[in-house]
Amino acid sequence: MADSQGFSTRAIHDGQEFDPTTGAIIPPIYQTSTFVQDGIGGLRGGYEYGRSGNPTRTSLQTLLASLEGGAHAYSFSSGLAAEDVLLRAVLTPGDHVVLGTDVYGGTHRLINRVHGAWGIRNSTVDLGDLAAVEAALATDSTRILWIETPSNPLMQITDIAALAALGHAAGALVVVDNTFASPALQQPLALGADVVVHSTTKYLGGHSDVIGGALVLNDDELAEKVGFLQFAAGAVSAPMDAWLTVRGIKTLAVRMQRHSDNAQAIAEWLVGHPAVETVYYPGLPTHPGHELAARQMSGFGGMLSVALVGGAAAARRFAESTTVFQLAESLGGVESLIGYPSEMTHASVRGTALEVPDNIVRLSVGIEDVADLIADLERALPR
Ligand SMILES: *Cc1c(COP(=O)(O)O)cnc(C)c1O
Repeated sequence: MADSQGFSTRAIHDGQEFDPTTGAIIPPIYQTSTFVQDGIGGLRGGYEYGRSGNPTRTSLQTLLASLEGGAHAYSFSSGLAAEDVLLRAVLTPGDHVVLGTDVYGGTHRLINRVHGAWGIRNSTVDLGDLAAVEAALATDSTRILWIETPSNPLMQITDIAALAALGHAAGALVVVDNTFASPALQQPLALGADVVVHSTTKYLGGHSDVIGGALVLNDDELAEKVGFLQFAAGAVSAPMDAWLTVRGIKTLAVRMQRHSDNAQAIAEWLVGHPAVETVYYPGLPTHPGHELAARQMSGFGGMLSVALVGGAAAARRFAESTTVFQLAESLGGVESLIGYPSEMTHASVRGTALEVPDNIVRLSVGIEDVADLIADLERALPR
């Protein structure tokens, strides 16, 4: 790992040494469950069994640590598997977690319903309201402050450095879900966070062909607990999945640039459209988090949401009428996706304080030609 090199160089080279036996420039996929030993305990390169370690997984983990500027990275079979390991590594029954009102619905469900059943308590607060965060953190036994920025689906921007200071003052571990920005646009550890969480399914993988997750952190003691749970509970990334994720990451910097450029152009176009009530995109100067995003991020990303004047019926019709933008869950791939959060990604939080308004449509803007994307939206929006 050469810290002095730039992000794009590290994204292509770190953890990716060519194969010494054949010279193959791409390290092979180690599609194997076990490793032959030279006599009992005679391991070659430390590898013993595929759950405890695999060279393809090591290469992904080395790469992720480098890109997030962390000492340790662990990859998992999904983003939620990564989150679950982190929660179990840190919490014991009776502990309290503070999380944003608009974190990923699956994160809230995991903390509230899965860990809730084991005695973990949680409070959801508006992370933009520092006084409310401070009050929630003061709850007895707060162990984790969970931040997601930009948030889903309203692209709220949260001040990572300010919240990290508040969290640390309260003795909490500060966790940032960096899925929406990716390390190409935002580096939470450098801003004071303790742990970065990723659904690598999204921008890191980038091609909608693999599910995965990761944790990146600096603390050696916590890293050991996370590594132990990765091994002992077993939600590891498979070799092929790790390889696909590495392959995706090589183009992360250029993809994020294009995602951001396309999303900016689309956001600006949508603002003037009569069917549109509000556009939620941090790249717009009118977005409440614009200045903070400009400081904290190095680009505004490819995600935006739009509220339609015509309410739920118009939003549903719009989401079902595009053709280049395909109607699907997920985000962060090269192809554009459209979604209706209140019945798709956020269906699990309907009827709670985390509910998403029913006239909102979310776009994951891909890297196609922006003129084709705008023409597609224009055809699908109510006139
Ligand atoms: C998708 C997503 C997750 C969950 O990741 P999976 O890979 O689907 O398990 C967590 N956080 C955010 C922000 C996500 O978009």
